[in-house]
Amino acid sequence: MTAAADPALPLDGQPDELAIQRAGLAAIRSGQHLTPIELGVAADVDPMRAQAIIDGLLGRQAATVSGGRVDGIAGLTTRPTKHTLTIDGHERHTWCAFDAVGIPAALGLDAVVATRCGYCSAPIDLRFNAGRTDPAESWGWLPALDRCGNQLIDEFCSTADLFCSRDHLDQWHSAAGSPPGEAHALGELVQIGQAVWDHCR
Ligand SMILES: [Zn+2]
Repeated sequence: MTAAADPALPLDGQPDELAIQRAGLAAIRSGQHLTPIELGVAADVDPMRAQAIIDGLLGRQAATVSGGRVDGIAGLTTRPTKHTLTIDGHERHTWCAFDAVGIPAALGLDAVVATRCGYCSAPIDLRFNAGRTDPAESWGWLPALDRCGNQLIDEFCSTADLFCSRDHLDQWHSAAGSPPGEAHALGELVQIGQAVWDHCR
């Protein structure tokens, strides 16, 4: 794994955990909220093990549950966020802009991403065709994972935004006190996302 792919770490795990994430993302994509037991069945993972995996993901904000059913996992959620990912004709949401780019890139999807610049809040819309998107001026920020705690949504996703331009990314970064992390042009972000969500294909 290259240094640039280090942001993959929150999604790296044991094979059973990766299988649960894959099944969970597919369920959210199709609008289903499965219980941990049902996810275990879908992923061919022992039900008790599936429950323990979901508990572990919840402990580091790498899944969300409502009413005992998983409504967010591997970055995809049915809960409203500021990032909308339209796939299969349905609006879903993602925890960060990196998810919104990486998921369609890795799964080879037709998709429309609607998010907002992390600096000026201008709308940023991207269209994916079979996982590919046209070059754009957008840049993305990936916070340094080793400086984050273990709360994925609050501490990583909250600033893993897209920006109109490198200039707007740099202005945000300076205003935010120059936090550690990596700036990537959209094309690089797509490549990193393909690696991070490869297990969800
Ligand atoms: Zn902007």
